[in-house]
Amino acid sequence: MNILGFESSCDETGVALVQTREGALPVLRAHALHSQISMHQAFGGVVPELASRDHVRRALPLTRETLDAAGARLEDVDVVAFTRGPGLAGALLVGAGVACALAAALGKPTLGVHHLEGHLLSPFLSPDPPEFPFVALLVSGGHTQLMRVDAVGSYTLLGETIDDAAGEAFDKSAKLLGLGYPGGPALARLAEQGDPTAFDLPRPLLHQPNLDFSFAGLKTAVATALRKLGPEPTDQQKADLAASTQAAIVEVVLKKSLRAMKATGLKRLVVAGGVGANRALREQLNVAVARFHGRVHYPELHLCTDNGAMIAMAAAMRIQAGLASPALDYTFEVKPRWDLASA
Ligand code: ATP
Ligand code: MG
Ligand code: FE
Repeated sequence: MNILGFESSCDETGVALVQTREGALPVLRAHALHSQISMHQAFGGVVPELASRDHVRRALPLTRETLDAAGARLEDVDVVAFTRGPGLAGALLVGAGVACALAAALGKPTLGVHHLEGHLLSPFLSPDPPEFPFVALLVSGGHTQLMRVDAVGSYTLLGETIDDAAGEAFDKSAKLLGLGYPGGPALARLAEQGDPTAFDLPRPLLHQPNLDFSFAGLKTAVATALRKLGPEPTDQQKADLAASTQAAIVEVVLKKSLRAMKATGLKRLVVAGGVGANRALREQLNVAVARFHGRVHYPELHLCTDNGAMIAMAAAMRIQAGLASPALDYTFEVKPRWDLASA
């Protein structure tokens, strides 16, 4: 079965073709992606109206590109999947509208997918996929959650951020440092030149016994530290602050992940979402988890941030698990706010 997937929840248009296999994980046949980052950069963040309009422009050319790369035709598509939510309402509506129109024209069924389930299952597209059960650390631009995952569709929330997401903490700190949008990768690059111990930044909730996170105070601390440096901080001072910020985020995320593994007794950790691309986080997690004979699985680097492959994959895995039955129903709805546990 061939599943065509559309992602359009924010500022990436992604299309992918995934094929299910008897008794094995689905495989990615091809995918195509367009990032709107350069378009939104001038505004310092995503402009929803511009995002929607650009998804309209990109969806069909990317579909053509995906099918060509897979050597497939439109008639080969058996199910059309799309991101139903969470995300920007207008952006979601474009993906859902295109997916349902295409499915209606082909007479094929559709399936709406939860964006975070896509992130969560994206490591199954890697050459070294995890096995169930595992602890999942979802660290993206809008979410920071620890979950116990027993199977496809079986997600128990262990803890989550009570304010900003980890990616948001990266982005907001980067913005304060004048690094543009989205600042996560830029802050990580600058941090390579800095001293992570130069600034003593807070590790919110680190010493609380729960598995929740809080990053809003970190951004305030970064702003205060910058103010103390005066109007013209040196490049080295900025690099030191970037390194210290990254160190604070990584330490909290790492320690809470280890705590979740200990609490559940699970030795496998799956990291998903954009911040999962962070090199310092990967290095430190690998070392810490190996120390108690556990293993960490990640999506491939280019599949950490939003893409169509994870949406087609989540649809495929749901169908294979018998949890979802695609329907010949083209009266689509989107869910800008949507809890994964209720998906
Ligand atoms: P959500 O999935 O919660 O709706 P999103 O789709 O915007 O949010 P993702 O696409 O998963 O989030 O990830 C984007 C986030 O990842 C941004 O905050 C970005 O700064 C961050 N990010 C990407 N690469 C890195 C990196 N190397 N280091 C730190 N942060 C990074
Ligand atoms: Mg994005
Ligand atoms: Fe995302």
